[in-house]
Amino acid sequence: MNSKIWLSSPHMGGTELNYIHEAFEQNWVAPLGPNVNNFEDDLKKYLNHDVEVAALSAGTAALHLALIILGVKRDDEVICQTFTFSASANPIAYQGATPVFIDSEKETWNMCPIALEEAIVDRIAKGKKPKAIIVVHLYGMPAKMKEILEISNKYQIPLIEDAAEALGSTYSGQNCGTFGEMSILSFNGNKIITTSGGGALVCKTKEGKEKAVFLSTQARDDAPHYQHSEIGYNYRMSNISAGIGRGQMEVLDQRVAARRKNNQFYQDLFKDFEGIAVFVEPNQDYKSNHWLSAITIDPQKAAFSCEELRLKFLDQNIESRPLWKPMHLQPIFANTPYYGTKVAEELFNNGLCLPSGSSLTDADRIRIKDVIVKLKQ
Ligand SMILES: *Cc1c(COP(=O)(O)O)cnc(C)c1O
Repeated sequence: MNSKIWLSSPHMGGTELNYIHEAFEQNWVAPLGPNVNNFEDDLKKYLNHDVEVAALSAGTAALHLALIILGVKRDDEVICQTFTFSASANPIAYQGATPVFIDSEKETWNMCPIALEEAIVDRIAKGKKPKAIIVVHLYGMPAKMKEILEISNKYQIPLIEDAAEALGSTYSGQNCGTFGEMSILSFNGNKIITTSGGGALVCKTKEGKEKAVFLSTQARDDAPHYQHSEIGYNYRMSNISAGIGRGQMEVLDQRVAARRKNNQFYQDLFKDFEGIAVFVEPNQDYKSNHWLSAITIDPQKAAFSCEELRLKFLDQNIESRPLWKPMHLQPIFANTPYYGTKVAEELFNNGLCLPSGSSLTDADRIRIKDVIVKLKQ
């Protein structure tokens, strides 16, 4: 059997271990230390915007803290893109708040500005103004930020950007992760860079970052003894994980380039295929890191479905995966409000993510191509 080709696997640059050794030598084996501070600085520099960064244990933790800092409480409503990974929505439930799910538009697959405004107007009419909007840059594709920011400003509802999949993506030349009142990044094992597990909260102000660090380290008041006036969390990033992050930041641009090259490979591969569309940027304003490359299939025109293709890949030990199942269709979120026209449902039914790792080799690409070529025969 050929070795497995994964959808997206960790890809070390080589210097990560140096930073970990340094941490051991200095005995900074704790959820604080020089690697944490330096990793935050590296991210801040990379994002190249007036932001502050707090390194945390996970992207999910970052999103939870963003909601807390923005004052989301029990029985509040928070707007969230329906077409996403469950981690975008779960922190809303952690706070005892209710998600209001918004459909996608067809160009970027992200939050539809029309459905967003419709939802805000309707929720206000029903008596509750949403406390925040969570927009996602799915698979690295920037959302329609101009339109969404306009709506966020018009109704004075803060925007949280879930940029977990979009480090290295830009919209109108500005980095994803710098548009929101707060933004989150993820460094889980399958993301574009990894710290084995980890995340970050990107804030517009120093106070925002300080609050995030305070809450993520058990909310200790300024006193010699342990005193607490607020509920705290254990969400800070480990100095060992941050060492991996520092090494990964050195190769981030290469990782983005490799994933974009994969996307180009799929564009070339499917060029002459009736009924298959590779997910690409709508125009020059959008630059996706193409964290995952994805296709949609029209089964009538292509004469096979996404599931058939997935199984053909699996036969060759190649991993592929259906697109995210929309949150409003998840059993756990049944009966939550939803606004839209079933665009995300359609994508879920007819879409597939293809192997997209930055460590994909030419030999891997030949095996992938073989599966596709045989489909035509
Ligand atoms: C990975 C991911 C998260 C969660 O990040 P973790 O670091 O795994 O907690 C949140 N949102 C999206 C869209 C993600 O892909």
